Amino acid sequence: MISDAWETALAQFDQVSKRIPLSEDIHQVLRNFDRMLTVSIPIRMDNGFLRVFTGFRVQHNAARGPYKGGIRYHPELTLNNLKALAMEMTWKCSLVGVPFGGAKGGIICNPKTLSKGELERLTRRYTYAIMPIIGTEKDIPAPDVNTNEQVMAWIMDTYSINNGYYTPGIVTGKPVNIGGSLGRTHATGLGIAYTIAHAVKYKKMNLKNLKVIIQGYGNVGSAVGKFLNEMGCRVVAVSSSKGGIYNPRGLSHTALIKYYKENGSFDRFPNAEGMTNESLLELPCDVLVPAAMSNQITEENADKIRARLIVEGANGPTTVEADQRLAKRKIPVIPDILANAGGVVVSYFEWVQDAQRYFWSEREVNEKLKNILDCTYEEVHSLSQEKKLSMRTAAMTIAVKRVAAAISVRGLYP
Ligand code: GLU
Repeated sequence: MISDAWETALAQFDQVSKRIPLSEDIHQVLRNFDRMLTVSIPIRMDNGFLRVFTGFRVQHNAARGPYKGGIRYHPELTLNNLKALAMEMTWKCSLVGVPFGGAKGGIICNPKTLSKGELERLTRRYTYAIMPIIGTEKDIPAPDVNTNEQVMAWIMDTYSINNGYYTPGIVTGKPVNIGGSLGRTHATGLGIAYTIAHAVKYKKMNLKNLKVIIQGYGNVGSAVGKFLNEMGCRVVAVSSSKGGIYNPRGLSHTALIKYYKENGSFDRFPNAEGMTNESLLELPCDVLVPAAMSNQITEENADKIRARLIVEGANGPTTVEADQRLAKRKIPVIPDILANAGGVVVSYFEWVQDAQRYFWSEREVNEKLKNILDCTYEEVHSLSQEKKLSMRTAAMTIAVKRVAAAISVRGLYP
């Protein structure tokens, strides 16, 4: 059984390379990583004691452009997680045609137990530690699980001070007043909502009253909920890391956000049935959006899923075995590298705007985002129809082929 995120990513890549088929040379290059950096981050805690944290930055491949990918803060973060996520960024950027390679980084920590001051010192010292390998033309970090605009602002400030001048393009997902892009905060969620709207058309389902379950109502999931609410869908179940709630008549986004702010969980949300994150996945619905962590849909629960369509909000939420079972049961999966690419697409827009010091309206950002995602969806969908492939295999085929072509034309140095 494959349960490790890295094994899943590698198995998916191996399968696709065999099908393309990729030359053994390129296959070898892409199975490996350009660079993996581990750093120790000593900081002074509020209680006066020193604590040393461990951080990473993993760079997979930069054949098509500078490395790009988020920074996550998580107590169970491992190098293997980051390898999977960095490789996935290479495919994601390639699939949507943004000129970046793939990277991912993070710190092993539980940000919920840290004060704002500790979090700031941790972020700044981490930025300093990875400075030799990041840069506006080298590697551009962004938000990911448990990091946000504020963390990006600290990264930008630390880098700029050390670099000697204002360097907004070092990071994306910054606040708008220091060079962030309008529309970046909700871009991943909006992109997922656009993808759902697109997929639903093909499945002859209607957006009006579409029953949706969102596992993980955080940065990404809550934005999906907001846009789906506006589109007339009915979000029937949501969850946080502490558990979920279900109301078949629908949950209001505004009420959910207000309740979570006041209570720190959805526990005892009025008129809703409480449940675990696992049982939430098994409720009947039209669209299931796993938007929490990786490896949530596995061979253990794949046969119990009662959704008509799965749209991956999180990175790597479905294991290889689960994918096979879902395919047998004819439950289509819109893969992460397509569904959640909105974040990195608007990160690209942000990087372009920073380079030009010329900023776009939110409408322009959203229109351009929709255009890229719609075209990519069509491309993936037609390949999947033509060659009778799953949407994941079709998306991976397009993405991997593009990276391989870039490696091949650039050749081998020396
Ligand atoms: N962390 C996001 C992702 O996994 C965004 C990365 C970025 O914008 O660079 O796609």
